[in-house]
Amino acid sequence: MAPERLYLFDTTLRDGAQTNGVDFTLGDKLAIAKMLDDLGIDYVEGGYPGANPTDTQLFAENRNLDATFTAFGMTRRPGRSTSNDPGLAALLEAKADAICFVAKSWDYHVRVALETTPEENLASIRDSIGAAVAKGREVLLDCEHFFDGYKANPQFALACAKAAYDEGARWIVLCDTNGGALPHEVETVVGEVIKLIPGDHVGIHAHNDTEQAVANSLAAVRAGARQIQGTLNGLGERCGNANLVSIIPTLKLKPEFADRFEIGVSDAQLKSLAHASHTLDEMLNRAPNRHAPYVGESAFATKAGIHASAIMKDPATYEHVSPDRVGNRRKLLVSDQAGKSNVLAELERIGLKVDKDDARIMQLLDVVKEREAIGYAYEAADASFELLARRVLGKVPNYFDVEKFDVNIEQRDNAVGQRVTVSLAVVKVKVDGETLISAAEGIGPVNALDLALRKDLGKYQGYINGLELTDYRVRILNGGTEAVTRVLIESQDESGERWTTVGVSPNIIDASFQALMDSIVYKLVRAGAPV
Ligand SMILES: [Zn+2]
Repeated sequence: MAPERLYLFDTTLRDGAQTNGVDFTLGDKLAIAKMLDDLGIDYVEGGYPGANPTDTQLFAENRNLDATFTAFGMTRRPGRSTSNDPGLAALLEAKADAICFVAKSWDYHVRVALETTPEENLASIRDSIGAAVAKGREVLLDCEHFFDGYKANPQFALACAKAAYDEGARWIVLCDTNGGALPHEVETVVGEVIKLIPGDHVGIHAHNDTEQAVANSLAAVRAGARQIQGTLNGLGERCGNANLVSIIPTLKLKPEFADRFEIGVSDAQLKSLAHASHTLDEMLNRAPNRHAPYVGESAFATKAGIHASAIMKDPATYEHVSPDRVGNRRKLLVSDQAGKSNVLAELERIGLKVDKDDARIMQLLDVVKEREAIGYAYEAADASFELLARRVLGKVPNYFDVEKFDVNIEQRDNAVGQRVTVSLAVVKVKVDGETLISAAEGIGPVNALDLALRKDLGKYQGYINGLELTDYRVRILNGGTEAVTRVLIESQDESGERWTTVGVSPNIIDASFQALMDSIVYKLVRAGAPV
C-alpha cells in the first residue's frame, strides 16, 4: 500500500512568537522561514498581517519559499460584511500562498467573548472562507477551543468545522487552545469529526499544558487527521505548542508511522534537525535544552560503565534510534562512574588513536576520577575532557603563558552622579617570547577578564576572533571542609560549533579563568594553530 501523505504546518513565527520573552524581528522571521523551508516543512505560517508592522512588512513581498507561506487572521467581525472589515482586507491583500483563519467553535466563547449568536458565528466563517477562496488562496480554518467546545456542545463545534469545509477550506484544523485535552479524548473526538469531513482535510493544533501536545498530535493522526501543526522546540505561550522537533523524527523513525505515512522531510533533511533546533535557540539567545528528546546533548548520553561497554558492542542495546539519523551524536559520559570503555569510546570520537592496552588510558581514568572528586564535571565539559586527554597523551602544545592577571572591581559615582560598579582586568601574556599586556573593562569581573584575555594573543589572535562566550554557569559545591566553586563555560565559534569547559577553585575568578583558558586552548587545538 502506498504511504499516505502527512502534512506539517509550522507556526513558530506566529504562535511561537507568543512565547514570553520572544520578540522576532523581520530579519529573524525571514531566517527562520528559510530554515523551516530547508527542513522540508509543508506550511510556514509567518504571522498576522495588519496586526503589527513586522508582520505587515513580512507579507508585503513574495517570499518565494517552497513551503506554502501562510498568513493568519480572524474571520470577519460579527455584524460586518467582508468588504467592510479592515482586518480581513489586510489578510486578503497579504502576499501569501494560503490564509489561515481562526474562528470560535465553542458556543460559550461565541456568547461571552464575541457577544454574538451561534448563527452569526457560522455566517462569519462561511463569508470569510468564501472571500479568500474567491481570491484564489488555499484556505485553512483554525477551530479555536475545538475540543472544549466539542465537550460542551458537539453539534455546534461540528457545525463550525463543517461550514468551513463546505465553503471550500482545504484544511479544518482542530485546536486544543487551552492545552488541556488528553490523547484518548483527542483520538475519540477526531474520530467523530472525520465521519463528517475526510481525514485528509483535518488538522491538529495542540498546546502543551499537560505535556501531551506531541502525544495528542500523534493520537489525532491515528484517528485520521493528516495535518499536524506545531513549532520548533515547542515554542509557544504558556507551556508551548506541539514540538515539531520531537514529532518529525517520530514520524520518520517509528515504524507505526514511518510505514504508513510519508512527510515532506527527507532522510537528509532529518539529519539537519538537531542543527535547526540549536540554531533557533541561538537566535533566541538561550542555551539548548540538554534533555530535549532526539536533539538534546544528553539524548544519547550514557553514563554507567556497564551500559557503555554494551553500547560499544552494539549501540541498539541502549538506544531507541540511531543518533546520527537526526544529526545528533552518541555520548558516553566520562565521569567517576566511568569504565575504561567510556574513555576509549570518547577518545575514538575525538579522533585520538590509542591502543586499548596503552597504560596511559588507566592513567587518564585516574586523573578524571581524582579531579571529579574535587568538583570537576567532565561529562558536562567535553572540551575540557578532550584537553585533559590530549595532555595525558602529550598532545597539547604550550601556545602561550599567562604570566599574571589582575582584576579590579570598583564602585563609584559616574559623571552624571549615578552609582556604578565597574570591573577592570589586566592580563600579561607571553607569546613566542614576546610579552603582551592587555586591559579591558567589563560588566563584571569575569567578563572583563575574558575580554582582556582575548584582546591580544599575538599570532594566535586570528584563530580566536570568532570565539564567543554563550553560556556561563556557576555552582557552589560543598566538598569536604570548604566550599568550592565550579564554573562551566559554553563557547561558540564562527562556524556555530559549541563546546563546554570547566574550572574549579575556592575562588570564582580563578575557576572562571581555568574554564576560559581551556576554551581558548581548545579552539587553538581544533583550529590546528601552529606552535
Ligand atoms: Zn495555538
